[in-house]
Amino acid sequence: MKTPPHPSAEYDVVVAGGGPGGAALATLLAKAGHRCLILDRDRFPRYHVGESLIPHTYRIFERLGLLEKLKSSEFPLKHSVRFVTRDGRDSAPFYFSEIISGPGAVTWQVERGEFDRLLLDHAREHGVEVRDRMLVDRVLFENGQATGVVAVSEDGEPATVAARVVVDASGRACLIGNQLQLKADVPGLHKASLWGYFRGGKRLPGIDAGETTIFMLREGGWFWYIPLPDDIISCGIVADPGRLFIPGTSGQDTLHAEIAACPALAERLERAHQVGPVRGLPELAYLNRRTCGDGWIMIGDARAFLDPIYFSGMYLALASAELAADAIHGALADGDVSQDRLGLNERDLWNSLEVTHRLIHSFYDSHFTFAAFAARFPEHRATLINCLTGNVLKDMTDFTAALATMTPPPPLLAAAA
Ligand SMILES: Cc1cc2nc3c(=O)[nH]c(=O)nc-3n(C[C@H](O)[C@H](O)[C@H](O)COP(=O)(O)OP(=O)(O)OC[C@H]3O[C@@H](n4cnc5c(N)ncnc54)[C@H](O)[C@@H]3O)c2cc1C
Repeated sequence: MKTPPHPSAEYDVVVAGGGPGGAALATLLAKAGHRCLILDRDRFPRYHVGESLIPHTYRIFERLGLLEKLKSSEFPLKHSVRFVTRDGRDSAPFYFSEIISGPGAVTWQVERGEFDRLLLDHAREHGVEVRDRMLVDRVLFENGQATGVVAVSEDGEPATVAARVVVDASGRACLIGNQLQLKADVPGLHKASLWGYFRGGKRLPGIDAGETTIFMLREGGWFWYIPLPDDIISCGIVADPGRLFIPGTSGQDTLHAEIAACPALAERLERAHQVGPVRGLPELAYLNRRTCGDGWIMIGDARAFLDPIYFSGMYLALASAELAADAIHGALADGDVSQDRLGLNERDLWNSLEVTHRLIHSFYDSHFTFAAFAARFPEHRATLINCLTGNVLKDMTDFTAALATMTPPPPLLAAAA
């Protein structure tokens, strides 16, 4: 049955959150002629973690018209990912050009304050109305259909905005997930993270200078090492919560002790000094039991977040924004904003999340290595590198079946949802 949009809505679409997901979605819809409003609680540029892009973002940047801005930016070019083993040996880098031809084989390491501001300004340039320092307090529903939001300005002034479609792009704040109590744990995936920024860390020569390096740790867990502009390195650990959040010990001390315990990483940071505070999250993973409904849809981290290991967070935020924008455009044209119409692409997104979950589970299985997998199944090596480039929005049945012969699959996320 059709669900017609709110008859007297001021905006076609109101978006809670102006991060990469919200900004990309609103830009695409504004380009298609829709009236969009973004509300963000912060003033940009604002701090955000998550700096390493993966190559499959390229096509979306192209569609957004952002490539020229990115090409003329200071963001380091990322050609590859490299693993450093538990005993300190460097693997050969996985160059994306092995499987992608042309300019899309290279991506960027971005300082998020600047990158997110760039995307939000780009949305403004395309006619999106942006109001910052506006916290969306709640979504308004009439007979189960979202009809707008209530927001509060910095000085406490409330405002009601009516819209045909409400998009939750609020990231880990999970506006609708919390309001409708849809948030759930991901069974068996409990990881925490601590991270900081260091000026003067070592960079490799040539095109490896901008690579993401992953240092595997003897005690389990791993470090990321991401070169950023201004001689800054983003460096963070992902490991079990009990190891990183120790009562009576600061995150600062724990991060430094972990760096010292990884000689290959400590050597890279030998001459570096810390800039700014150590930050952390005691629980990384969550999902939502439902991700769209009549008149509303979630995108990006507001849908789910599993683990940073494949650096796919921003890609999934942009890809889910693109799919949601296309679904919303069709729904508004048809005058039907029902859950079925808005959720046209939900199955593909859930499937990609299941595949990502499989890959994460395999990564944390201490009896399994991707090197052994690639040796046994050379026909799947390209798919494996594809996963490192973000290409998981496709049929991966053969690949996951091969994976299951070497590492047991985790419970389906759909079961937790
Ligand atoms: C430790 C860690 C490391 C990571 N590393 C990487 C990486 O290297 N590469 C990568 O691709 N991804 C990484 N990620 C994931 C990445 O940060 C996210 O996937 C990405 O930022 C999601 O974008 P988004 O637009 O969905 O949400 P966000 O970027 O979080 O944007 C949400 C916006 O909503 C606003 N907001 C929140 N609540 C409200 C409200 N009530 N009202 C109004 N505005 C609101 C916020 O101010 C924010 O601007 C990492 C994540 C973590 C936790």
